[in-house]
This record gives sequence, structure tokens and C-alpha cells, in this order.
Amino acid sequence: RAGHPCSPRRLASKMVDSQYVLPNDVGLALLDCSEAFRLLLRGERLYAHYLSRACWYGGLVVLLQTSPEAPAIYVLLSRLFRAQDPDQLGELARSTGLTDQEYQAFLVYAAGVFSNMGNYKSFGDTKFVPNLPKDKLRRLIWQSQAFQEQPEEMKLLWDRCGELMFSLDAQQRQLGLREKGTTTYFSGNCCLEDAQLAQKFLDSQNISAYNTRLFKEKDKAGQTCYEVRLASVLGTDAPVDHELAPKLRSFEFEGCTFRVTRGDYAPLLERVVENLQRTKAHAANTNQEHMLEHYIRSFTQGSIAAHKEGSRCWIRDKGPIVESYIGFIESYRDPYGSRGDTRFPPPHGFVAVVNKAMCGARGALCFREKVWGHSMGQVGLSQVSASPTSPDDDIRQTEGFKNVSLGNVLSVAYATQKDKLTFLAEEDKDLYIKWKGPSFEVQVGLHELLGHGSGKLFVQEEKGTCNFDREAVINPETGELIQSWYRGGETWDSKFSTIASSYEECRAECVGLYLCLNKDVLRIFELEGEDAEDVIYINWLNMVRAGLLGLEFYTPETGTWRQAHMQARFVILRVLLEAGEGLVSLQHTTGADGKPDALITLNRNKILPVGKPAIERFLRRLQVLKSTADVAGGRALYGGFSAVTDEGPERFLSLRDTVLLRKEARKMFVQANTRLEGEDVTLVQYEGTAAGLIRSFSERFPEDAELLERHLLELSDADSHFWHKPPKQLPSQSRA
Ligand SMILES: [Zn+2]
Repeated sequence: RAGHPCSPRRLASKMVDSQYVLPNDVGLALLDCSEAFRLLLRGERLYAHYLSRACWYGGLVVLLQTSPEAPAIYVLLSRLFRAQDPDQLGELARSTGLTDQEYQAFLVYAAGVFSNMGNYKSFGDTKFVPNLPKDKLRRLIWQSQAFQEQPEEMKLLWDRCGELMFSLDAQQRQLGLREKGTTTYFSGNCCLEDAQLAQKFLDSQNISAYNTRLFKEKDKAGQTCYEVRLASVLGTDAPVDHELAPKLRSFEFEGCTFRVTRGDYAPLLERVVENLQRTKAHAANTNQEHMLEHYIRSFTQGSIAAHKEGSRCWIRDKGPIVESYIGFIESYRDPYGSRGDTRFPPPHGFVAVVNKAMCGARGALCFREKVWGHSMGQVGLSQVSASPTSPDDDIRQTEGFKNVSLGNVLSVAYATQKDKLTFLAEEDKDLYIKWKGPSFEVQVGLHELLGHGSGKLFVQEEKGTCNFDREAVINPETGELIQSWYRGGETWDSKFSTIASSYEECRAECVGLYLCLNKDVLRIFELEGEDAEDVIYINWLNMVRAGLLGLEFYTPETGTWRQAHMQARFVILRVLLEAGEGLVSLQHTTGADGKPDALITLNRNKILPVGKPAIERFLRRLQVLKSTADVAGGRALYGGFSAVTDEGPERFLSLRDTVLLRKEARKMFVQANTRLEGEDVTLVQYEGTAAGLIRSFSERFPEDAELLERHLLELSDADSHFWHKPPKQLPSQSRA
């Protein structure tokens, strides 16, 4: 039945398993910021300290937005490692019969939970489980110091999450709605239709989905009742400010009741607000002060409008020494695409400091080129961008934006070893390693500034006025006047929902590919002559390789993509393959190890004559459909290029198996803590290992770790009935 051990089927099933564990040799790197931190003035250090406290507290919210079991897993691990550090627990592990490999697997798992803030990957949305036998882990926990101190609590925690920690049932393998996966943005009984109806309701009331969750129940009369719950410190009964007053109530909408409430994550957001208040005392200027005041109001009241005000100040705060962004602004992980993860500590937000010893290197990138013709119009660009799908899209369009690139993150994340460079020809590898960094810098700069930062949306305000001339603007695709646009409260995210993130990433990537061909652009990056040619080649080569690697993030069982950027790169690969004329070639091969492999090559002489016009045509189509709110056209185009089949000659589904077989796990970052000592702040760094990462988390909340853990468990308890069927919760079972 299972076939020969080396048969493709056997191989395939083993690969599926490896997809759901983090390998023992996963890359872990220290994000070093000691020099930059040392060069800060005392006030700047205090500002950075309190702001990063706010971010770390806010980051805990992500646990409640991932899976029903994530908070309990986090608490269990935190207690284990607070009572015994990784070395001490390691000794115990050996004495209870764990092999070194098994204990390392456990450390890597714990590091994964901490750095993803949950048991699903923040990049790719798949679940990861501990790579050791469950009974061995249970035995270790039962022998641990934490268990000796609090046996009842530890046992209860294990009962709450032990099963789900290891389970790889089809529904639990990835984030998604109802039978398609797991999510705690929506109650377990919500499907795509519920999400769509809720979005319609939110649009009708001009409520942003970014800081909300949706819970569906039947009332006593059997009518469907949705609770839209806003994230805020204050509850629904607390005094409401004038902006939210008309919104916090019940509405009848299309035969259902929608109840808008607030107070989600309240005890955690309280810590965020406290620390933002302390940050304010050390602001460097009034822009920072006002920014913090608006963010405080946003998190206290649950107001997205206040967050937008804060972002306006953030944009005006040009070139600050301590840069940050905080809030519910990323929508990559919402299965429906319109709710924000809390963009708190990386990967969910950041506080960064400028390295004064290195500053002034590049300055502002200020360059524009007409890409899609005069008739479509572009918006002004200021120097530095928020994220692509933030609720502040409208601010980006009318007022400008900032781009923040995190140097130590990029340099660590993209350090590549030659033997780990898959799917490239031998003769490309050295060039690739040499130019990967510079070409990435060019691509990211163009992607953020001129990609996300450009492209007007055609909007008709409620009063009827349009932001474009309906009698004059011509659609370059059809040669006719504009036929469709955004109305009233409609936004890019609410209109394009499930494809919005990836489509927008694709548009920005295309802008980067297209503009990197421009010599003036490359000169801004101090690239000329042969170097400039090489950077162009490597940037394009990297894109087509990324398109192939992207297949890792496609789930054949559900036919869905789990990662916006990787889907975008796959789409671009398809566009360039379709351009033909030998621009890109993609072959199935056999590796030196006898296992399936692949080879991707790019003909550098065809980039200008074939690649450039292909990207130009595709980018124009993307932009026109986006600008004109043409959802049907956009879905047809983007869905078509996103389809993964096993049709020849590429046979992408089979290539996906090869990609999984040879994939390299994503690196994890070990981040410093800051500690208040007297009147000043010190930086505490850790070694770049799984143990170092765990230590950094054990010391992250020195004053109130236990209180926070209690809050997390209470918050997750209060809603657990939305995901677990009642029988699973019977006390008899958890006490068994
Ligand atoms: Zn982007």
C-alpha cells in the first residue's frame, strides 16, 4: 500500500510532514543594534525604551488572533523557561530520556512560538508542531521545576493545549475560515459568506475592519446575530467619544443583527497605552507628541480615525532618530484580508534606532517616471512608506508616506550560503551572492516608494464629487472614459478583499522590476556601468527564482495561497514565462542526490526587448483595474495567473513537491531587551541561538509576567466557546 520507500508517493507524504516542523538547524540570528543604541542621547534611549515596551505588550495580542490554543501554549512555555533556563531544562531533559536532537527540537519549537507569537508561521500561515514525541514532551513538563511549583496549573495548561499543539488535522494545518483552516479573527462557525456580509455591513456604517473581530451566534429567536468587537481599553459601557457614539450599538442589516461592541484585548492594550504615555514625556518634538496622543486615543477608544491622525503626525516626523510604527495595520493574516494583525514587535511592528555612525548614506530617493501614461495620474511622493494595505491608504494617497527599511534585519535575513542556493545554474551563483544585497535594496526602495507609493484610486465622495475628471480621463486599456470607481466608504481592501494584499504586492514588485531598468534610478543607488547591468540581471533573476520558491506557500488541498508576496512573485514568474522568446526557462532536473530538482535560468539579453514590455503591459493592466475598482476584471486577471496546475510544460504542482523537498527554513531573529536602570536605559543582548531567543522572552516582562499570563488565559477562556464544541470542554475530560 505504501509502495517502495523511494517512490514519489512516499516521498511526497514525508515532505508534507516536514512542512509542519521547524528544522533543528533553522537559522537564528542576533539583531545587533548595540552601536546604534550606544550613540543615542539619554532622552532618545528612554523614548525608545518605553515605545518598545508598548510594542512588546501589544505583540501579545497576536496570540489571541492566531489559534484558540496559542495563548495557552505561550503561557506553558513561558512558565517552563522562567523557572528553569534552557541549559538547566536541557539537563533535566537528558535525564528524563530525551535525546539531544529531541531537546533541540523542543527549543526550536519554543523559539518559533515566541518569534511568531503563536503556533502558526507569520510568513506562510502554516502550523508548526514540536518535532519530538508527545509523551516525551509531557514527561519533561511533568518533571520540570515549573510543574513542581504549580502542578495543578501546569496540568491544566497541558490539558488545554497539549492535544492541539501536536494535531495536524486537515483543518488545523493552516490559517483559514471554517473548514479551510483555523483563525481566531472569526468565530469557528464563520465562513466566507459571513465575512462578506460583515464587510458589507461595515462599509455601510463606515466602520473599518482593521481593529475588529467577528463572532457569530444565534439569538433565542433563532436569528443570526454577529458581534463586531473593536480592540480597545474601554468597554462598551464606558463613556463613548462623539466619533464612536453612533457606531457602538445594534443594527439590523439584511435580516441579521449586527452588534458593535468594544473592549477586545483590553488588559493588554491598557499596558500599551500606559507605556505610550510614558513615551510621550521623552518625545523629541511636537509631531511625536501628537502622534502618541492620537495612538493613545486610538487604543483607548478603539478608534481607527484617531490612528489615522496619528499616522499623519508620523509622516510629518521626518528622519527621526527613533523610528517606530504601532497598530492594527497589517492584513496579511486575515483569511478575508481586511483585518489587521497588531503590527507590534517584528514580525508585527517595530521600534528602530538610526545608527548615527552610518547615517547620511543614501538620503532621499526622489525619482519619478511615467509608467502608465498621463491620463491615469499619479500622486505626489514624499521621501520615506507605511505598509501597503494599512487603513491609512487614503492618507498615503492624499498626504504622503514614509518608508522605513531595517538595515540589520535585511543584512541578516539575506546572507546566503552558496550550498543553500537552490535552483540556480552554477555560473549564476557567485554573481547572485555578490549582488543579492544591492539588488534587494534597489528593489525594496522602488517597491515601497514608487510601487505602493503610487497609483491613484478613482473615488466619488458621498457628496457626489469625483477626484478625477469624468469627462476627460481615458482608460488606456479600452480607450474609453472611466466607467467604474470607488464610491462612499469603499476602499481597496474592502473591494478586492481576498486578493487585495497579494495583488498590491504584485503591483509594487512590478514597479520595482520595471524601474530598476532605468539608469537614472540606479545612479541614485550609486550603481553604474557593468555593476548596474549585474544588479538588473540579479534583481530579475531573483524575482523568477522567488516565483518558483513561492510554490511552498500554495496549498493544493484548498487551492489557496497563504502568503501575499510569494503569490505575487509566482504571478510575475508566470507573466515572464508567458512572454516567451527564451526570456525565462524552467526545467525539471535530478539533483546530485538523485532526488528531483529544478533549474531556473534567465537570458539577460532578453530582459530589455522581451521582459520590459511584458512587465509594462501587465503592470498597466493591474493599475487600471485597481484604479477603476474593477473587481471582476482584477479577479479574472490575478486569479488566472495565480492558478497552480500540473499542466505541461512547467507542471507547477510537481515543482511544488521539489520546492518543498529543498526548501530552507526562514530565519528567526533574536532581539535585545531594554532595561531601565536608575535614570537611564541599558541594552541587554542575547546570543543568536534558540536558547538566546527563549532567554530574551523569559526576561521580557520582568515586572508583570504572571499577571500578563493570567490576562491572556482569561481573554482566551472568555471566547473559547466560539471555537470548541461544548463536549470538548467538559471538565471531566480536562481533569481526566
Ligand atoms: Zn509591499
